[in-house]
Order: sequence, then structure tokens, then C-alpha cells
Amino acid sequence: MSEQTVPEQSSGPFPCDECQAGVMRLRFITYFAWIGEELILVPNFPAWICDVCGRRDYDEKSLSWLSMLLSPDAGKAPRPRRSDPARSRRPASRPSPQS
Ligand SMILES: [Zn+2]
Repeated sequence: MSEQTVPEQSSGPFPCDECQAGVMRLRFITYFAWIGEELILVPNFPAWICDVCGRRDYDEKSLSWLSMLLSPDAGKAPRPRRSDPARSRRPASRPSPQS
């Protein structure tokens, strides 16, 4: 653990934690997130990317904004798949007792 106080990283660029050689620069990328079974794409998402090793750090504020946006309370909430053996996959092999 190295003592490291980052007062404000809003003005960047700042040195990379990982390789100590590169510089983290603010880029706008497309952020991918899986919500349940749905792939969410967030274009122009701010990320700090090292120009040497490629390490990626997301902006904290943007991340919390995103998680808020994607939280179940925010609207549609695709449920995490529950065990649902009755449906799909292969048809039941046992004949249904139907007169
Ligand atoms: Zn680096």
C-alpha cells in the first residue's frame, strides 16, 4: 500500500499506477455492461487510459451515475434468471398425462 492522496484528478493527466511509466489520459470509450442478460452500451463514457500499458480507470462519478442509471429502481429491471426448469431447453421427455 503506497500512500497516495489524489486531491482532484479532474484536471489530469496523471501518472499510471500500474506501470509507473505511462500517463493516464481521459478518453471517451464505449462502456459495456451486462445487466442480467442484456448488454448495455454506453457510448462516450469517460475513462482514464494509460498510454503505455493500457490500464483503464473509470471516472468515479460517471460510474456512480451509470450504476444509478442502471439500478433496478430506475425503470425496467430484467430479473436475474431464476431457475426455470419448466420452460425451454429441451422438451420434457416424459409424456404428459393428458387423457
Ligand atoms: Zn500504465
